[in-house]
Amino acid sequence: MTSVMKVEGLSKKFGEREVLKNINFEVEEGKVICLIGASGSGKSTLLRCLNLLEKPTTGDVLYRNESILSESLNLFKYRSKVGMVFQHFNLFNNLNVLENCVTGQVTVLKASKEEAEKRALRFLEEVGMAQFIHARPSQLSGGQKQRVAIARALAMEPDLLLFDEPTSALDPQTVGEVLRVMKQLADKGLTMVVVTHEMQFAREVADQVVFMDQGVIAEEGTPEEIFNNPKEARTKEFLSRIL
Ligand code: ADP
Ligand code: MG
Repeated sequence: MTSVMKVEGLSKKFGEREVLKNINFEVEEGKVICLIGASGSGKSTLLRCLNLLEKPTTGDVLYRNESILSESLNLFKYRSKVGMVFQHFNLFNNLNVLENCVTGQVTVLKASKEEAEKRALRFLEEVGMAQFIHARPSQLSGGQKQRVAIARALAMEPDLLLFDEPTSALDPQTVGEVLRVMKQLADKGLTMVVVTHEMQFAREVADQVVFMDQGVIAEEGTPEEIFNNPKEARTKEFLSRIL
């Protein structure tokens, strides 16, 4: 199996507080990893370390066998390869849908405007948002905004896409449309790490489920192992609360 990302002995402290402790895991090409765990267990901080929105305190993160902590890393290039989709979309509210999906390609990938628009349209089509290219984010529902955010991330042609609770801020009736798009991406073989509370999605789509508790990986395994046959008491306790 080809390793896309490998996390080795990662810890993160905020001041004296260690919120991630000795995290180790590997993301293989074409796989979907779902990170689950209670609020405050460190899931977002871990994703942010993978994207270098936070710097790990100790340990390392290898992307395609090279440390992302190396001085020579080009941060913008790296983030085009390892993209992130956020809970609150983080769209540019002063730009329309098409412009949101074009700007990163032009500034980071140095694509021409024509090329960038073509690619943006292709991915807006894929997420079912092509008819909204002139709309402003403020005119869209949460589910539509999130689909645009996903198209924007895809337009960078990422090698790995990180999702931080992409449906947690949505009205219940728009959650499904976003999960459907994500499942479609997984089926097409995109490598993904997804923080989610949608256990049905994790069960269906994940290759590997990682359960975090108080800054450590408490248990990991296939969906079958984690959901049908959890070994750790804290996994059982978490699942009994959420399912
Ligand atoms: P989760 O995403 O699982 O809810 P987080 O990664 O957001 O958890 O948070 C893990 C812990 O780290 C929490 O206790 C949170 O308060 C703390 N934390 C997160 N970001 C910061 C920060 N920038 N400064 C200080 N503490 C933080
Ligand atoms: Mg979080």
